Amino acid sequence: MNKKDYYEVLGVSKNATDEEIKRAFRRLAKQYHPDVNKEAGASEKFKEIGEAYAVLSDANKRRQYDQFGHAAFQNNASGGAGFSDFDMGDINLDDILNDLFGGGFGFGNFNSRTRSSSRNKGQDERVLLNLTFDEAVFGCEKDIKLDLDVVCPDCNGNGGFNEKTCRSCGGSGRILEQQQTIFGYMQTQKICPECRGSGRSFEVTCNTCRGKGIIRKEKTFTVTIPEGVDDGYQLRLSSKGNASKNGGANGDIYIEFKIKEHPLFKRENNDIYLNVPTSIVEATIGCKKEIPTLTGNVLLDIKPGTQSGTKLKLKGKGIKTPNSLIRGNMYAIIDVKIPKSLDRHQKDLFQQLADTSLDDTVEFKNFKKYLKR
Ligand SMILES: [Zn+2]
Ligand SMILES: [Zn+2]
Repeated sequence: MNKKDYYEVLGVSKNATDEEIKRAFRRLAKQYHPDVNKEAGASEKFKEIGEAYAVLSDANKRRQYDQFGHAAFQNNASGGAGFSDFDMGDINLDDILNDLFGGGFGFGNFNSRTRSSSRNKGQDERVLLNLTFDEAVFGCEKDIKLDLDVVCPDCNGNGGFNEKTCRSCGGSGRILEQQQTIFGYMQTQKICPECRGSGRSFEVTCNTCRGKGIIRKEKTFTVTIPEGVDDGYQLRLSSKGNASKNGGANGDIYIEFKIKEHPLFKRENNDIYLNVPTSIVEATIGCKKEIPTLTGNVLLDIKPGTQSGTKLKLKGKGIKTPNSLIRGNMYAIIDVKIPKSLDRHQKDLFQQLADTSLDDTVEFKNFKKYLKR
């Protein structure tokens, strides 16, 4: 964007004193104030003037501007406040004008960001939900109890009874104020202080909500938890949260999950890991071993000579997460258990095995080569 030089905008020289800058701004602000000047482009011009003044009236900003020009206030520039696009959030014209001319200015919808608060969404609510491993894996239904802001049932959220039109604003929620100002005789719009913008008032205040239109109430929701949710996964119940305090939409409820660990199955995203205790005999001569899966028992084919730590994949026996289309896998980890104590008979059998030169393999031979004789 090609921005005009701030000094040019205010029509002052580069060496203008603070007083000169202030005077120039007052004069131009009077001329272009949107409540006074209805010409097309006046409002843009007014913003431009406000921006130029906001920078040049601040010694620090002015110094940066003199040094770097508009680049001083681009986002990311060091020390810049970041209002390259003249953001009304950074410079409040109301504040500047009130500073200069004294309070009492309402700019209609001019500074819309600070005045758009008439209908706010209700507050969001967060819940931590504990699930068992199976509940998380297969999904479930859960009842959730929550204290929430709800619309007062007695007054339907109005806050009172015998509604009448607000006398101060005639129901418009806004009042026009005429005042003699530095800009001349001006009409400005303000939110009606009587009805706070609703345009209504009541003869009788509601006792249940004490006029707030909102009460706190315990609500119960039955929530369907999809299969495959995990720790940290978030479920959003749209518009089920707190009621708005001024007629806006309800907030949302966010449910987060805490999953209890399973004694056997370990989960990693949509895969399942299962440690399979395996005897040295099963690992050595092989076997079909019955193991549990998420969906019932299966026979695991352990090949002869399977080493401890071997990972056997059971395709599609994992979890389907809400965000994935494919079911994960299960991995059976062979965990060969070396017996810690043997009875006499077992000991005999092992001794017999030892006598058959079980260590007559390449690995053992290579190892023995390095033994010093
Ligand atoms: Zn009113
Ligand atoms: Zn009420």
